[in-house]
Amino acid sequence: MTTQRVAIVTGAARGIGAATAKRLAAEGDAVGVLDLDEAACAETVSAITEAGGRAIAVGVDVAKADQVEAAVQRVVDELGGPTILVNNAGITRDNLLFKMTEQDWDSVMDVHLRGSFLMTRAVQKHMTEAKFGRIVNLSSTSAQGNRGQVNYAAAKAGLQGFTKTLAIELGKFGVTANAVAPGFIQTEMTKMTAERIGVSFEDFIAHSAKEIPVARVGQPEDIAATIAFLVSEEAGFVSGQVIYVAGGPQD
Ligand code: NAP
Repeated sequence: MTTQRVAIVTGAARGIGAATAKRLAAEGDAVGVLDLDEAACAETVSAITEAGGRAIAVGVDVAKADQVEAAVQRVVDELGGPTILVNNAGITRDNLLFKMTEQDWDSVMDVHLRGSFLMTRAVQKHMTEAKFGRIVNLSSTSAQGNRGQVNYAAAKAGLQGFTKTLAIELGKFGVTANAVAPGFIQTEMTKMTAERIGVSFEDFIAHSAKEIPVARVGQPEDIAATIAFLVSEEAGFVSGQVIYVAGGPQD
């Protein structure tokens, strides 16, 4: 394509989302950097613009339909119609089932499932009109079950079914949908998990790395690189897949 592609990355103030926004900008895309707190997106946006790219910060709670519609409209007005969407915003509210509150359950479902649904519904018309689109949803190895994450595991498994159905419905419009399922990635999210279970982040990383075949934990850039492939022009025949990026095989 000769015109600059427009991408939206949610939860892009930090972690995997920030690395993905920067990587897509480096590949030449204009990027809508979306996160709960618009001011928190400033670092990602300035890293992109200082490197010569184009990006805007947009504050949005992806679980709120009116905010999602307004955020996508801002991207359309300021950058153009988005044809790449990375549903990355996420939270954890871990607890064993017997201690898990309804609020813990609902807030995880709201951000991951409702948020991805609302964002995708708002963006898809720009993709179908362009006869080109790339959707990537962030799943997790936790989709296969993980102690203390009955809410998160259900949401991340749900996103896999969501992804496959998007692939089936939108394929004829030139739109692909895939899920990336990371293992342990070194971000604020895993840092908070270490705090919750009462170990230092360094020990948590060292212990986790011992269980991973490539003998290290992942970095946000590992996930960004996989997403960059999935949203590329040449990945047009890869759709409805779940790519585990976990430093080793998954069952
Ligand atoms: P992170 O560092 O916690 O970043 C997540 C970002 O999403 C934060 O900036 C957060 O904002 C934002 N966010 C949360 N709720 C939102 C909402 N309702 N609307 C808009 N933005 C919202 O997490 P990460 O580790 O980079 O994870 C990114 C994605 O990868 C998540 O979907 C996560 O589940 C998935 N993942 C991560 C790992 C891992 O090991 N790190 C593994 C598998 C999957 P606030 O800071 O304001 O809350």
